[in-house]
Amino acid sequence: MNVYDSARMADVLAPLGFDQSDRPDEADLVILNTCHIREKAAEKVFSELGRLRRIKEARAAIGKRMLLAVAGCVAQAEGEEVLRRAPFVDIVLGPQTYHRLPEMVARASRGTGAVLDTEFPAEPKFDFLPEARAEGRSAFLAIQEGCDRFCSYCVVPYTRGAEYSRPAEAVLAEARALAAQGVREITLLGQNVNGWHGEPGEDLATLLTALARIDGLERLRYMTSHPRDLGESLIAAHRDLPQLMPFLHLPIQSGSDRILRAMNRGHDRDDYRRLADQLRAARPDLALSSDFIVGFPGETEADFQDTLDLIAEIGFVQTYSFKYSPRPGTPAAALPDQIPEKVKEARLAEVQALLHRQTEAFSQACVGREMAVLLDRPGRYEGQLLGRSPYMQPVHVRNPGGQIGDVVRLRITAVHPNSLEAIPA
Ligand code: SAH
Ligand code: SF4
Repeated sequence: MNVYDSARMADVLAPLGFDQSDRPDEADLVILNTCHIREKAAEKVFSELGRLRRIKEARAAIGKRMLLAVAGCVAQAEGEEVLRRAPFVDIVLGPQTYHRLPEMVARASRGTGAVLDTEFPAEPKFDFLPEARAEGRSAFLAIQEGCDRFCSYCVVPYTRGAEYSRPAEAVLAEARALAAQGVREITLLGQNVNGWHGEPGEDLATLLTALARIDGLERLRYMTSHPRDLGESLIAAHRDLPQLMPFLHLPIQSGSDRILRAMNRGHDRDDYRRLADQLRAARPDLALSSDFIVGFPGETEADFQDTLDLIAEIGFVQTYSFKYSPRPGTPAAALPDQIPEKVKEARLAEVQALLHRQTEAFSQACVGREMAVLLDRPGRYEGQLLGRSPYMQPVHVRNPGGQIGDVVRLRITAVHPNSLEAIPA
């Protein structure tokens, strides 16, 4: 979501003459787009600000100005604190106000003090953003924001606010504009993306069906979905829409029912198993990925073992796993039985080793298979192109019989550490 937001900030600033640069020492404006999900991500902001301060001072010494902005969820949650700890910051803006960046930049340029905007404005920012500019063949498209689920460990409902769904027509217009710029694959984004709803009768399944009719859009994905909001219509969409890729990120977080209850997830292990079965019945080649939190308060060895067992049973092919991080203001942070750091570390290492083996086994099982690959970049060698499999695996191929932007059928011939190798099928 932050990648999408950052691109939209660039879109908003382009009419003012701003261009993107990866050299902060040459930038008139640096925006740090931040994440508050875990303590580690939030703390990084302050070390990064220290580095940017030196660059800002070096520029000032040669008579050049650099405005420094902090955006995103750390700004939302700790805006005042950011200005107190880093008084050289010029702009602090939350994730729902970046359509107002031009006005903030103008105010900050006057030099009359820092600008702080962490409101949840009544007007949704989406109504004020210019047309999205596409880069490459694959694009993100935010359709939903915020979360009403209140998992007991999570800051998102507080930093991103209540659930909001963009109207179907706005989503379709953005998708058409992206397709017209050569985009072939769209990943719909939302904190609880399958909670998306439009007019009565419109849900994520109807939206996907409408998107699948857009010329040139060959692939659709959505993330991140919540098991509680994955209903029959969406499962049927996986059966009926060839454009919907057979790879679904559907986080479960833990394999222990006791922990899932304490997390306030609103589903148990069996609910998840049932969903996995229904999805695979609808789309037999579907692969699942998940997020896991280890070391949630009160997690015993037995709970942790339940997680390991479930990972093996469901056969996740990819996952993101994290040590539980107590977040200010969340109910779980106040629970007794916080797990010692050393235990969390050991559990994380164990979970990641298992997941790594499963990802590896899945890659090996792809050898010999034919897959549709979206070619999206030139490779390192003459005649070589890079692309993505339906499962997001990077694939490289020589003389694929197609060009960038094409979806070609390839046969996987080998597994490399971070990619697959293929030949035309
Ligand atoms: N809305 C999505 C993802 C939210 S944040 C969902 O419900 O799955 C992305 C991931 O960060 C979560 O899935 C979770 O695994 C992790 N996460 C969130 N809060 C965390 C915390 N306090 N400590 C550790 N990991 C956390
Ligand atoms: Fe956070 Fe996701 Fe739970 Fe919402 S559903 S509270 S975003 S983990």
